Amino acid sequence: MDDIDAVVQVLRSDWLTTGPKVQEFEKAVADYTGVKYAVALSSGTAALHTAMFAVGIEPGDEAIVPPITFAATSNAVLYQGGKPVFCDVREDNLLIDPSHIKKLIGSRTKAIVSVDYAGHPVDYDRIRAIADEEEIFFISDACHSFGGEYKGQRVGSLADLTILSFHPVKHITSGEGGMVLTDNLEMAIRMRRFRNHGIDRSNEERRQFNTWYYEMIDLGYNYRLTDIQCALGISQLKKLPNFLIRRREVARKYDEAFSNSRDVKSLVVSPDVVHSYHLYVLRARNGTIRDRLFIGLKKEGIETNVHYIPVYLHPYYQRKLGTCPGICPIAEKAYNQILSIPMFSSITDKEVSSVVNGIRSIIAAL
Ligand SMILES: *Cc1c(COP(=O)(O)O)cnc(C)c1O
Repeated sequence: MDDIDAVVQVLRSDWLTTGPKVQEFEKAVADYTGVKYAVALSSGTAALHTAMFAVGIEPGDEAIVPPITFAATSNAVLYQGGKPVFCDVREDNLLIDPSHIKKLIGSRTKAIVSVDYAGHPVDYDRIRAIADEEEIFFISDACHSFGGEYKGQRVGSLADLTILSFHPVKHITSGEGGMVLTDNLEMAIRMRRFRNHGIDRSNEERRQFNTWYYEMIDLGYNYRLTDIQCALGISQLKKLPNFLIRRREVARKYDEAFSNSRDVKSLVVSPDVVHSYHLYVLRARNGTIRDRLFIGLKKEGIETNVHYIPVYLHPYYQRKLGTCPGICPIAEKAYNQILSIPMFSSITDKEVSSVVNGIRSIIAAL
């Protein structure tokens, strides 16, 4: 069934929210990723916030995060009154560098929050080992890596909590939406409550048990995902395998096109992973070349982007946390050189060629 039909069917049904489509979407994603519990939330950001609540981040607690990510990753730590501690990234793939994590862990560290940047799964085994040794939680922001694999296992059950986003720019969409995946029942229950004001019984349960009584256990939020959105999500999930095939095909074309370039390089992909290519990131030899590519491609009508400004350099962070340039030198240097070139499942071969030719001709004219 098509996306539109799936949504219309819900509009004609009795449940627009807190209905059967929510569980159906959760079960479909849990089955696909091989995890026990999936908790649907109103956005990836809400899912991150819910994860921070689930691991018990409180004022004064710290969480280790990489700077090359969307601000929502570390904002979620701030929502709970915690302090994000920024850990530099690896030069070759811009993922959090496990060898730097340990020295940032202190008595208040509650969690490591990794990001599968661009769609490349992090070194889950190494981070898992550090988290276990230090007895802290491992949260994976997998908003870029839905459908990705690490050592033959799909992203979803490799960390204590794994976060997905269904924003339209991501692999599949529910308009807005997100999920937290976990094998921990206790945390799943806490998260279900958190998305519903911290209330222990849903309307449905109250009806089932013939009672009006409910209790508010925690200070939760309204982070519910509607049945309308879940129906779209379910329909989209069926298309995910084909979306991923196309993204990986496009990545191979880009890999080949730039494999011999002196001026731009693709990020390195580990043989341990299957990449999901939310982004395709090129790294220019220097900032001038990156800027010329951005402007030159724009003139040709090709939109590119920079993912991301190191989070701690944003004015809010500098003002509130007192962060400043120099904290993560590898991330800052990379930030000046990276460019995300067009990557989406509906891109045509012709469009891929014009991106490649556009980049080649800008480089030739340097
Ligand atoms: C998209 C994204 C988010 C936030 O997801 P929303 O659904 O837009 O709230 C968080 N982290 C990363 C890495 C993302 O790419």
